[in-house]
Amino acid sequence: MWGVAFFCASFLNVYNTLRVEEVSPMSETLPGLEAQRSKVLRQITELGDLRPGSITGTIRRCGKPTCHCARASDPGHGPNLRLTFKTEGKTVTEALPTPSAVHKAEREIEEFRKFQKLSHSFVQLSEKICRLRPGEEDSAQPLTPQEKKRRMRSIGK
Ligand SMILES: [Zn+2]
Repeated sequence: MWGVAFFCASFLNVYNTLRVEEVSPMSETLPGLEAQRSKVLRQITELGDLRPGSITGTIRRCGKPTCHCARASDPGHGPNLRLTFKTEGKTVTEALPTPSAVHKAEREIEEFRKFQKLSHSFVQLSEKICRLRPGEEDSAQPLTPQEKKRRMRSIGK
């Protein structure tokens, strides 16, 4: 039973890997990855104003017994929308007093999410490039015996 399940899982893995390579044969080559990385970098420079954070709203009940908000079915006052974000470990809140302030903050947060996605792919692509890029000495001559000794000494330290 377990053996069958394991076989199916590894079969699916192989299948997925093959499929990805079929769709984009150039993407996993050094020039292909470099082109993708330049594209991501360009997209980062094209981002608008951005800031991290989230918009939260609070609904308030003022407590006056004669106010409409005293009724249980009433939606209450507000919502008072605020922008909340963390800076140096502290949570900071900024008031968003007008609809245009809310829209501005929404746009800026959206740009920040795009930046996060782009910077994530930038690092992933760079990682793959690092793995594929040959070291300088590999393409030139092999290490001389002296160089090897020197290298062994520096590793031993
Ligand atoms: Zn009230």
